Amino acid sequence: MVRAFVNRSADTIEWVKSKGIKFEYIGPGGPGGMLTWHVIDGPGHGRFLIKTFHEQFKNMDVTTMVKTAGKDLIVKDGKVTGVTAQDEQGNTIQIDAKAVIVATGGYANNKEMLQKYVAFPDTIMVGNVGKDGDGIKMAWKAGAKDEGMGVCTASIPPWSARLRAKLPHAGRCAPTLSMGRYPWPSFYR
Ligand SMILES: Cc1cc2nc3c(=O)[nH]c(=O)nc-3n(C[C@H](O)[C@H](O)[C@H](O)COP(=O)(O)OP(=O)(O)OC[C@H]3O[C@@H](n4cnc5c(N)ncnc54)[C@H](O)[C@@H]3O)c2cc1C
Repeated sequence: MVRAFVNRSADTIEWVKSKGIKFEYIGPGGPGGMLTWHVIDGPGHGRFLIKTFHEQFKNMDVTTMVKTAGKDLIVKDGKVTGVTAQDEQGNTIQIDAKAVIVATGGYANNKEMLQKYVAFPDTIMVGNVGKDGDGIKMAWKAGAKDEGMGVCTASIPPWSARLRAKLPHAGRCAPTLSMGRYPWPSFYR
């Protein structure tokens, strides 16, 4: 699955473009790196991508349930056949499906999991919220094995001796000014 994700990343970009998304910048993810970093052209960048997709979903036979949390994978005879979820009012919903894609992010918002799996549990989470490891735990409960749980990204500015002392395992980040409009921190240990 991971191999396909990487090998077909160019196809994925083409598919995204076919949905009407343009890129205002394509560059390396770090100095000297490959041109993998794609910045979406539109207000809010990633937010614009989601908005565009959502507009298109409206014309398709797709139901979107917001404020509805996935709770459990339903397993029958060793196969995942659906999911249970809970809506805002606390009602349990069962959705039967041929396939379930778990896309609940990582566990950066879950203090207990950070404590258990990473060397720097006091780190400050950035990005969106709700990455509580729910999907990971659902998959484990359904029989998935764990692997690579301790892998995560952390960066601190090199000038912060206080943070460096606190987070000895974190990579340092320094501004790279050679990339024109998109100066990007380079990560190194
Ligand atoms: C500061 C920062 C900068 C980044 N910059 C870039 C960049 O320039 N380019 C790039 O390619 N990547 C970048 N990334 C990484 C990128 O954002 C992530 O790899 C990507 O968002 C992961 O997408 P995802 O859909 O797997 O998970 P997420 O985006 O984490 O989405 C998971 C969603 O699932 C929801 N959820 C959790 N539990 C449940 C549940 N039980 N039921 C229903 N929903 C649930 C969460 O609330 C969340 O909305 C950056 C990340 C950060 C933090």
